[in-house]
Amino acid sequence: MSLSRRDLIELGLAGTSAALAGTAVKAQPRSKLPDSERIGVAVVGIGKLSQGQIIPALRTTAGVKLAALVSGHPDKARRVAAENGLAADAIYSYEDFDRIAHDPRIGIVYIVLPNFLHKEYTLRALKAGKHVLCEKPMATTVADAETMIAAAKAAKRHLMIAYRCQYEPKNLEAMRRIRSGRYGKPRLVVTDMLRDSDLNEPSDAWRLDMVKSGGGALADMGIYGINGARYLLGEEPVEVRAWERTDRTDPRFKTVPDMIAWQFRFPSGAMANGSTSFSVGGTMRWDVFCDKARLRGDPGAYYNGNHFEIFSSPDAGEVHIAEVDQFAREMDWMGDVVRGRVPMVSPGEEGLQDMRLIAAILRSVKDGGRPVAIDWHYTRAHDPAVAVTLA
Ligand code: NDP
Repeated sequence: MSLSRRDLIELGLAGTSAALAGTAVKAQPRSKLPDSERIGVAVVGIGKLSQGQIIPALRTTAGVKLAALVSGHPDKARRVAAENGLAADAIYSYEDFDRIAHDPRIGIVYIVLPNFLHKEYTLRALKAGKHVLCEKPMATTVADAETMIAAAKAAKRHLMIAYRCQYEPKNLEAMRRIRSGRYGKPRLVVTDMLRDSDLNEPSDAWRLDMVKSGGGALADMGIYGINGARYLLGEEPVEVRAWERTDRTDPRFKTVPDMIAWQFRFPSGAMANGSTSFSVGGTMRWDVFCDKARLRGDPGAYYNGNHFEIFSSPDAGEVHIAEVDQFAREMDWMGDVVRGRVPMVSPGEEGLQDMRLIAAILRSVKDGGRPVAIDWHYTRAHDPAVAVTLA
């Protein structure tokens, strides 16, 4: 898909034109809705991501707010509830989670559990009549992802996957510039999503378990590269080849693969090289080589501090764009989807596409790098480059 300059202006992508001129772009602050109009979010699982990013972001969101906590640790839940002004009756355990059906304070359930629990809590939340925002990867198997999508359809509720980079200013700006055709055709995307891991760290222990994570580093970190190549290019791959390098004597890699490298072939002729690892790192970066320029996000998928730079074109240099809290933007987006104000950009189907690609990569790995056809005719309903605004 290619957007003309006129399209960009009509879409109100003022940030794009200002950034092209080399000036810093300020994100527009979004005014908060009155408390009574903000949709309540129940955060399920108070682990690292919830405590470090999601719950703090919910203090800044404009259209949604923290309404409940679901946890297996009552002491921790009471502490976090008190810190965030939540009443004691807004704390649920996993056992009494289904009572949320009778809690009108909750409109959206945000599932921030280990991957193997995403399906169960998505189904229970949908059964309780709530909309679901689910962390990536959406599940540990393709079949579970399909079940989640079918359940949301049957319940007539929204199911969104928390692909925060699709709501992040620098990634959005890169997508828009690529779609504009300004740099010619995108030909090659390179993504490297790697970090070290520690079996003694509880939040890594389940990630290093194949059943609980659905694929180790590939499912945890590699997914940013899989998703990133797709949204940066704005098209879907049709063939993959992949290779693995794992030291099976390393106690971390008894069940999960470690380093995986893959290549996607896209219908336009573009290629993507991806790599991921849980033993070397750490970076989350991407490069897009176009006919006339190279766009680089290094880092390109961090929570903050991403660095977006253009090489070899009249626009050469760093692109300065004000940061916004990706988690807040993503949760506000979900709130606006529920209100019917904006389109669903990262639905269950978007998560399923990555689940299928992860499975195909693992299949190719198993077959020593044999090419695997991966054309399921998936097309995204809404291009983030067009749909997502920053405020
Ligand atoms: P953690 O292990 O830190 O937290 C998971 C929490 O889930 C635990 O603290 C616990 O909370 C709860 N839990 C319930 N049952 C279990 C169980 N059997 N084993 C372990 N924990 C359990 O993980 P993260 O917060 O790092 O990741 C959670 C999810 O968020 C994952 O799907 C991950 O992929 C995703 N993620 C996404 C990121 C992004 O940038 N979008 C970044 C990091 C993670 P409690 O004690 O309250 O019950």
